[in-house]
Amino acid sequence: MTKGTKEDFLPDDLLWAAGGHASDVVLTAMADGQVDIVPPIVLAHVDKCRSCTTHLGNAALLSLHTGREIAMVAREADAAARAPMPRLAIFLGLAFAVLGLLPTLLDAPSELGGARSFATHDVPMFVNGLGTLARKILEPGSALGLGLTYGAAVLLVIMAFALVRLLPKKEVSR
Ligand SMILES: [Zn+2]
Repeated sequence: MTKGTKEDFLPDDLLWAAGGHASDVVLTAMADGQVDIVPPIVLAHVDKCRSCTTHLGNAALLSLHTGREIAMVAREADAAARAPMPRLAIFLGLAFAVLGLLPTLLDAPSELGGARSFATHDVPMFVNGLGTLARKILEPGSALGLGLTYGAAVLLVIMAFALVRLLPKKEVSR
């Protein structure tokens, strides 16, 4: 047996609480698994005393809870450190929105430049183009609508992957 000598134990004045029960220091040490620093006579008392056993149970629960909280905070910090993923998903979403508008912008005639005609011509053209685009998309079976539908599906899959990789794993065991 390589059990500790008296010097390895908690000081005598920290061992007992009022009523001849084990002190909070002892119970906390036992809850944390540091049984080696508790003298055998105190361990023997806790073993037989219902009040001390109850307190030990509470201390153990508290210790377990605290450990779990710390692990959770550590995991959240870890997830925050890997945060660039959602930015990628948002960027992809925005990129796709711009891509969806591109056909309209490219269809608009470009030789009609000049600031004067912007409000009177280009803007109505643009709005008209949007209307055309909307009609094309709504038209069942149109190539553009089909393409956008597939594009949106692919985008959703990409974002789902991004989310799955982002979410902290909720493993139960520690
Ligand atoms: Zn007791």
